[in-house]
Amino acid sequence: MKVDYLIVGAGFTGATLAERLASAGKRVLVVERRDHIGGNAYDEMDSHGVLVHRYGPHIFHTNSQRVWDYLSRFTEWRPYYHRVRAVVEGKEIPLPFSLASLRALFSPRLADRLEEKLIAQYGYGARVPILKLRETQDPDLRFLADYVYRNVFEGYTLKQWGLRPEELSPTVTARVPILVSYDTRYFQDTYQAMPKEGYTALFRRMLSHPGIKVLLGADWKEVEGEVRFDRLIFTGPIDEFFGYLHGALPYRSLRFHMETLRLPFFQSVAQVNYPNEHAYTRITEFKRLTGQDYLPHTTVAFEYSEAYEPGRNEPYYPVPKDENEARYRKYLEEARKLKSVYFAGRLGDYRYYNMDQAVARALKLFEELTHA
Ligand code: FAD
Ligand code: UDP
Repeated sequence: MKVDYLIVGAGFTGATLAERLASAGKRVLVVERRDHIGGNAYDEMDSHGVLVHRYGPHIFHTNSQRVWDYLSRFTEWRPYYHRVRAVVEGKEIPLPFSLASLRALFSPRLADRLEEKLIAQYGYGARVPILKLRETQDPDLRFLADYVYRNVFEGYTLKQWGLRPEELSPTVTARVPILVSYDTRYFQDTYQAMPKEGYTALFRRMLSHPGIKVLLGADWKEVEGEVRFDRLIFTGPIDEFFGYLHGALPYRSLRFHMETLRLPFFQSVAQVNYPNEHAYTRITEFKRLTGQDYLPHTTVAFEYSEAYEPGRNEPYYPVPKDENEARYRKYLEEARKLKSVYFAGRLGDYRYYNMDQAVARALKLFEELTHA
């Protein structure tokens, strides 16, 4: 068999590249080692008819009109603003930590003072990373920074990464900044929605082009030597591709415990975080994401973080920190020596991409490949 492009991985990165290349007249083979398309965004009906995300909750959000317009070719959308609460000192407070969270926790007098100072220091509407807020000299804001650090970030980050916030790249905790506003949405992006019929349906449409063949349940190593191709795009872990030549890149893995309950709803919002208690980090209630409000029962996922062990669990998260970036750079140098092999995606680029960033990266690589 001979194709123009062999693409390893059928997640957002692989599917976007496959669709674009096939639409440009190329013959594409996608090889995916799981038994389904969609990568970590895969969703499916559980045995109770609840649409669940097998690899963890996925909420689409982007500021990129280009990405939004592109994906809108393959799905209609259900408007959805993600709301998250964190349990702090027995109370459910809105997350990201905002002026509304101040009110939920502190007396009106203290909340007024902290609000005034936050606005004076950073401006209304500012997004202040916790590690930045901790640099403040003001005693009241210092109190607030320490409080939020201890009650929202420290325990959650230890559970999620096995590391303290300052041991990770500051970009990690900056994903959930302190919001100097009353916006209680988890994301502030221009476009926020869920694919109307789910992610897997979206992927099915992306990959339905006649120029694309998809081989499921096959590792790239099994087809190497069997399939001839002009170019290879690899969206799996870059260290695995090179046989761990420069040592293994660290990833963080997860374990999900799903439960279906005979209740219309289990919790107040789609996601509740537990920074300070329980072994799990968060509980997600899927029907609140997908709009299956008519069901008399509900499925929830308890999310536990754990060490990644190749072959036993999945490499869900690259671990953003300097020494890992330095090791990744060594792999990048290897990659540059290869002709006709390209790496992309959360695992191929070793980057903590959201879905829209994975699609944007794939669209950019497509341009580079077709204009070279
Ligand atoms: P993946 O989805 O990981 O796809 C890579 C595919 O390659 C996999 O299917 C894998 O099986 C396959 N593969 C790897 N190696 C091989 C091999 N050797 N041979 C064959 N196949 C191989 N993003 C958001 O925007 N919003 C969210 O709410 C959100 N929530 C998330 C929650 C969790 C728990 C996680 C882990 C991620 C979340 N993300 C979210 C990020 C999102 O999952 C990624 O941005 C996106 O899936 C990246 O797509 P990808 O194609 O690069 O990688
Ligand atoms: N975070 C935290 N407490 C929370 C939520 C997030 O400490 O209640 C930190 C934690 O380090 C986490 C990071 O912020 O890994 C990014 O959170 P996000 O919700 O973006 O994580 P994801 O959904 O990608 O797992």
